[in-house]
Amino acid sequence: MTGKEPRPYYLAVADEAEVFRAAFRRGLSVLLKGPTGCGKTRFVEAMAHDLGRPLITVACHEDLTAADLVGRFLLKGGETVWMDGPLTRAVREGAVCYLDEVVETRQDTTVVIHPLADHRRQLPLERLGVTIEAPPEFCLVVSYNPGYQSVLKDLKDSTRQRMVAIELGFPPADVEERVVTHESGVAPERAAELVRLAEAIRRLEGHGLREVASTRVLVAAGLLIAEGVAPRRAALAAIAGPLTDDHALMAGLARLVEAYVSDGSPLPR
Ligand code: ADP
Repeated sequence: MTGKEPRPYYLAVADEAEVFRAAFRRGLSVLLKGPTGCGKTRFVEAMAHDLGRPLITVACHEDLTAADLVGRFLLKGGETVWMDGPLTRAVREGAVCYLDEVVETRQDTTVVIHPLADHRRQLPLERLGVTIEAPPEFCLVVSYNPGYQSVLKDLKDSTRQRMVAIELGFPPADVEERVVTHESGVAPERAAELVRLAEAIRRLEGHGLREVASTRVLVAAGLLIAEGVAPRRAALAAIAGPLTDDHALMAGLARLVEAYVSDGSPLPR
């Protein structure tokens, strides 16, 4: 993003943008907490746009190494050349660097962000024998889904306490309705039905579902409906189906779909 594109659509839920901007101004790193599909990525996109900074996103996974983030020497036409990794590039460019689902990486990888995340704001490039200083415009943002937390996968306290935590939950119903309407193009009444269905599913948390219905799956259902798929069919495919493979749970979700989503079409057997 260069800042010339239109602002990514993001509807604020509370004071998250003010807290983010204050953190940015004071060079603090941000830990974005929230379930999958609640708007974390979209929020960072909107913030980077508002602050006029490029956004460099890294999707974290367990095989991601420190060298993947920082950079490495590569052989090019018989010569060894240094290639910056995305984190180094972000520091040099004064970008917003977004490490998505940082908890997925091994802890020895997470440690490379420590001197950057705290008051030092430095990135040691050990292979090059230099340390680069982050300019004031550089901002480190990591996302984290507390629902996935386990003994094996949790952020170290030493990482967490270097950051300002901003918690993003699912938006309140009126905001979520506007998001679904805007993002999918369905009528507001239809969006409201989908949101009420999601709220009913969210009340089932802890009853066998690993995750509940996110704003993202509501948008997907809306997009199918806007494409002419019958609303209940769309809700089954985009909301219920991704949540579980368990037949009994799926039957329960199908009953909720029938109760909350109106359409005349029969449900598939
Ligand atoms: P996460 O990064 O938390 O997994 P995303 O940012 O990818 O979630 O959000 C999923 C989708 O939900 C977005 O693409 C967007 O369509 C929608 N969305 C969720 N919350 C909002 C919001 N507050 N404003 C605008 N769109 C939102």
